[in-house]
Amino acid sequence: MSEAGTAKRPIDKQALLAKYRAERDKRLRPEGNAQYLELKGSHLAHYLEDPYTPFIERAPVTDHVTFAFVGGGFAGLVTGARLVEAGVRDVRIIDKAGDFGGTWYWNRYPGAQCDTASMVYMPLLEETGHRPSEKYAHAPEILEQCRRIGRQYGLYDHALFHTEITDLAWDQGRSAWVIRTNRGDEFTASFVGLGTGPLHVPKLPGIPGIERFQGHSFHTSRWDYGYTGGDPNGALMEKLADKKVAIIGTGATSVQAVPHLARACGTLYVVQRTPSSVDVRANQPIDPEWFEGIATPGWQQRWLENFTENQAGGTAEVDLVQDGWTDLSRRIRAKIAQLPPEQRTPMNMLAAYEDSDFEKMEEIRARAEQVVKDKETAEKLKAWYRQLCKRPCFHDEYLEAFNNPNTHLVDTDGQGVEAITEKGFVVAGREYEVDCIIYASGFEVGTEYRRRAGFDLTGRDGLKLSQAWAEGMRTLHGVHVHGFPNAFFVQPTQGANLISNVPHNLTESGRTIAAIVAAALERGAREVEVTQEAQDAWVELLLKGVGRMLGSADCTPGYYNNEGQDPGPAARYNVGYPAGPSAFFRYLQGWRSSGAFEGLAFR
Ligand code: NDP
Repeated sequence: MSEAGTAKRPIDKQALLAKYRAERDKRLRPEGNAQYLELKGSHLAHYLEDPYTPFIERAPVTDHVTFAFVGGGFAGLVTGARLVEAGVRDVRIIDKAGDFGGTWYWNRYPGAQCDTASMVYMPLLEETGHRPSEKYAHAPEILEQCRRIGRQYGLYDHALFHTEITDLAWDQGRSAWVIRTNRGDEFTASFVGLGTGPLHVPKLPGIPGIERFQGHSFHTSRWDYGYTGGDPNGALMEKLADKKVAIIGTGATSVQAVPHLARACGTLYVVQRTPSSVDVRANQPIDPEWFEGIATPGWQQRWLENFTENQAGGTAEVDLVQDGWTDLSRRIRAKIAQLPPEQRTPMNMLAAYEDSDFEKMEEIRARAEQVVKDKETAEKLKAWYRQLCKRPCFHDEYLEAFNNPNTHLVDTDGQGVEAITEKGFVVAGREYEVDCIIYASGFEVGTEYRRRAGFDLTGRDGLKLSQAWAEGMRTLHGVHVHGFPNAFFVQPTQGANLISNVPHNLTESGRTIAAIVAAALERGAREVEVTQEAQDAWVELLLKGVGRMLGSADCTPGYYNNEGQDPGPAARYNVGYPAGPSAFFRYLQGWRSSGAFEGLAFR
C-alpha cells in the first residue's frame, strides 16, 4: 500500500525542505525542556502513583549483598541473570515499581507492544525457552518474560520493590557501596549496577490551568483501568462508552493507544501538536513450526548480530529479522549502493541518504491520504520532517481510527494546548468539555541524570557523579567511570549506542559485567576501577567519530534533539563507538574473553 500514491509523484526537495523548516519554526519554544513540569515533590506528584501493585509495608534492610542493581527493567534482569550464571547468588535488584519489568511494568496502556521484532527485542528468549507469540509482542507478554527471567534466576529472592534509592555512596574503608532508600534501608554491596533506563520519569506539559481540571486524568504510564474498564490485553474499555475523552500527545504511545480508545469512547479527541510518522506495521503470529526450525542452539545471538549488522554501517547480505528498522537501513544502503563507487564521498552518501528519506516520508504521507477518508484530517496527520527527527512509528490501525465517527483530531498547528479548564481543554480559543484527560506526553529525557535517577552517586573521596560528568559523560565502554570503583553503568551511550534495539546493548553489557565480577572474586580483588588513562583514551577515540547521526538542523523539536535547543558542549560526548555497533560488540567480546580486561585496575 505504501508504495502507491504520492510516493510516485516527483519530489521537489527544495519545497519540502522549506516546508520542514516552516513546520519546525512554528514549534520551537525558547523554554525547551522547561516547558514540561517536574512531578516529583510537586502538587502533581499523585500522577506518579503506582496503580498496578498494592504497597506492602516491610522492615528496613540492613545487610550486605555482593551485587546491588538499581532498576528492575531489562538492564537489571540481564545483568542479574549473567551474574547468577557466573556464581553470584546474592544479587539484589531495587526498583521503585512493584515488580520487575521497568518500562513494561509501567506501560500497560491498551495496545502497548514492542516496535522492534520480538525475536531480538525480548531478552534471554533462548535461555528461558520462550517462543514469542507475535512478530511484535504485546506488553503483557513482555512483562511476563521479565517475570520469567526473575523467577528462573532467583532474582525475586533478594529484590526490593516499591523502593527508591536516596543515596549511593562509596565507602573506601569497607570497599563497598552504602545504599540508602526511602524505605529506611541502609545496606552495603560490594558492587553496584545502574540501569535506570532513559525514559522512566513521566512528564506533563506545562499547560496553564493543568491543576484546575475537575474530571478524571492520568498519564499513559499509569493507566487507570479502574476508570476505563478493559485490561492491558486489549479488552474493550467498556466504562468509556458514555465518556468524552481527550488524549493529549501523538507520540509512539498515543499511536498505539488511540485505536483502542477509538473503539471504546463515546467521543474521543486526539489532541495533536506534531504528527508522528506512521508506517506499515504488518504484525503477524509466530508460527510454532517455523520457530522450532530456526531455534537451534545460539539462535538468538545470531539474530541479534544479524539485526545489528543490518543497522548503521552494516554489510549483512541476509536480513533475518525484517522489521521496520532493518527495512529503514536497507533502503538507505540500497540508495547509497546506486552511487558509482568512485562517487561514494561522505557528501554524496549523505545526499543519497537524504533522497531515500524524502522518498520514505512521501510514502508515509501518502499513506495518511490513502487511509484517512476526511481530506482535511488526512492532511493534518502528515508528518513534515525527516523520519529520524522523531521516533518513527509503525501501526496499521492508528490512521484508520480517524475514520471512526466518534474520533476527532484536534490539531493545534504546532502550538499545543492553550489551557486546561475545570471542564476540559482549550485549543485555538475553543473549549472542549471532557470527562477524562489522558496525558500521552512522554518522559523526561533532557533533564539531569541526578534528577531522573533521584540520587547523585558519591564515589571515591566524595566525588559526585554530577561533578565527574559536569562537562560531559566520561567512561570506558559506557560502563566504567574513574573515581567510582565497583560501579557499572548499563546503558548504550559511549558503547554500541544501538538505539534501534536497546536490549542488545544491555545483554552484552550484562555478560561483560558478570565476567569482570567473576574475575574480581576469583582474584580476591576488593576493587575494580577503570584507570584515568584508559578512560581518557576511550573518550578520545569516541570523539574521533562522526558524532550523532540522528536528525539534522531542520528537525522539528522533540526529545531526540533536546527540544530544538542547543544541547551544549557536553552533548558531544553522547556518542557511540566510531566503527559502529557491530564492531563494538566484536571488540567487547574480544576484550572480555581475553581475561585481561585492559584498562581496569584490580586491587
Ligand atoms: P513522546 O515524548 O514521544 O510524545 C509526547 C507527545 O506529547 C508528543 O506528541 C508531544 O508533541 C505532545 N505534547 C507535549 N506537550 C504538549 C502540549 N503542550 N500540547 C499538546 N501536545 C503536547 O512520548 P511517548 O510516550 O509517546 O513516547 C516516548 C518514547 O517511548 C518513544 O519515543 C519511544 O522511544 C518509547 N516508546 C516505545 C514504544 C515501542 O517501542 N513500542 C511505544 C511507546 C513509546 P510534540 O511532538 O510536538 O513535542
